[in-house]
Amino acid sequence: MQTDTWFSEQLVAWYQQHGRKDLPWQQQPSPYKTWLSEVMLQQTQVATVIPYFQRFVARFPDVKTLAAAETDEVLHYWTGLGYYARARNLHQAARQIVEQHQGEFPTEFAQVLALPGVGRSTAGAILSLSLGLHYPILDGNCKRVLSRFAAVSGWPGEKKVEQQLWQLAERYTPKATVQQFNQAMMDLGASLCSRSKPRCAECPLARHCQAALQGEQQRYPSKKPKKALPEQQSFWLLLTTAEQVLLKQRPAKGLWGGLYGFLEFSSAKEREQFVALQGLAVQQQTELATFRHTFSHFHLWINPLWLQLSSLPARVEEQSAALWYTISAIPELGLSAPAKNLLQQLAALSLSKEKL
Ligand code: SF4
Repeated sequence: MQTDTWFSEQLVAWYQQHGRKDLPWQQQPSPYKTWLSEVMLQQTQVATVIPYFQRFVARFPDVKTLAAAETDEVLHYWTGLGYYARARNLHQAARQIVEQHQGEFPTEFAQVLALPGVGRSTAGAILSLSLGLHYPILDGNCKRVLSRFAAVSGWPGEKKVEQQLWQLAERYTPKATVQQFNQAMMDLGASLCSRSKPRCAECPLARHCQAALQGEQQRYPSKKPKKALPEQQSFWLLLTTAEQVLLKQRPAKGLWGGLYGFLEFSSAKEREQFVALQGLAVQQQTELATFRHTFSHFHLWINPLWLQLSSLPARVEEQSAALWYTISAIPELGLSAPAKNLLQQLAALSLSKEKL
């Protein structure tokens, strides 16, 4: 069983050999520079951030200069980094620091946390990386490392899972080498413990990493659960004679726009009424298995009813876009995927009946 100190010692030793120490915000670190870098690094890669950081600090070397600038100019220096709410929050926070802390970046955790756009992990990163204060961090990279190391199931966006990960971060974060440890956690997550191809053979934590020992690195952290899609029902009517099938073109706009399919109804009752009104010469009626077709925003349950007719009806009412086609020689029509599958089923069922 590994000890908490084993974890931090391994990581710090790895950092000393492999970690990043030459990033511009690591040179003579200050809470202001660390804050800027942490905000810029949210959702953005280090290599992209570096030139933006350098230009930004050259123009706004401290909180007071940033607070005194026009928002438009701040946004101009942010152009290309994306997620502009970050720049607005940064600017607003600078003004808050001038108003509430005389332009000196606060060093109390609660005061840092109160700044716009700063959450618990960013506040911890600012105070630990720039001043060596003992606060854990938990950004996306740390979440991946910790959930794999301790095999923590569940999506880290869930409160319960996040709390579990915070407890681990608190437990492993050492007092003495907090700067190096926190930087190491971020670096390990960004390099060896990557999302898709973790390089466990090179990892200093591999000996006790539960995910690596189980060979289940991809299980952790769990992915965001998919939202349950709403469900709808559709009642299809498949009309055939011995050789022909009725197909109808859908309206150009909407689902399966312009494609061909079967007659569709919103309820079984509506379909029944339609059949009754047509006076069709029904030879055989078969309920085919209901199946589900999934669109990006809902599931459609399709309930097909197959009516085999002894003769071609004079005309099928109100189905002007519907035409009879020879089953064995359907021309190159654009068919919706479920209609195509059903047509194949019909062809197979018709053939097997012929053989009987
Ligand atoms: S052993 Fe592999 S999965 Fe575990 S922390 Fe290291 S890189 Fe990540």
